[in-house]
Amino acid sequence: MVHNSVLVLAAHPDDEVLGCGGTIAKWVDAGARVHVAFLADGVYSRQADAHAQQAELLARRAAAQKACSILGTQSVSFGDFPDNRMDTIPLLDVTQAVEALIGIHQPDTVLTHHAGDVNIDHRRLHEAVVTACRPQQGHPVKTLLCFEVASSTEWQLPGSGPVFAPNWFVDISATLARKLEALDSYAGELRAWPHPRSLQGVEHLARWRGATVGVDAAEAFILGRQLA
Ligand SMILES: [Zn+2]
Repeated sequence: MVHNSVLVLAAHPDDEVLGCGGTIAKWVDAGARVHVAFLADGVYSRQADAHAQQAELLARRAAAQKACSILGTQSVSFGDFPDNRMDTIPLLDVTQAVEALIGIHQPDTVLTHHAGDVNIDHRRLHEAVVTACRPQQGHPVKTLLCFEVASSTEWQLPGSGPVFAPNWFVDISATLARKLEALDSYAGELRAWPHPRSLQGVEHLARWRGATVGVDAAEAFILGRQLA
């Protein structure tokens, strides 16, 4: 299965690197056109006043532009759904935003969040993508994959959401260094080891996913659907 036109649908800037940065770089190297779309604004109301919030928004977007240029994506777009409050938006609105992106980019492959993440925006976006990718006649999306995001996917409790049990792996031995370099663009979002969203934590996960399938490093996915 060849991935020529890839759309990464991520809730927040940094999810794309955590979830599939090595895969993006690998597929770009192979000639794919990759577009990354962020749906939420990525600023978690940490700042009390509006000016500080706007400054943080711009800084996060600049970090995303830098990370995506390291990975070699063709383009990046930013949505403005409210961060960590996408459950307050009607699912139809999120679905229509995803449908518009699919209409523009006509991807053969879509990568998005896992249904069982702790983060509500991740879950909401997953639902919208599943709805927007209903396999009707002539729909462009042939492969739908769900990635894991460190410090969200593994923090779900058994019974509180579907477990991330990967069945689809990409060997990122050649692009792990670029994934980590891209992740470094989001220095403000990273934490110190042993937090899972640390450079070491992310590398350990990639190494473990690699060991799972007998390669130096990998990213793991759940295959949602594939039409071959
Ligand atoms: Zn996220």
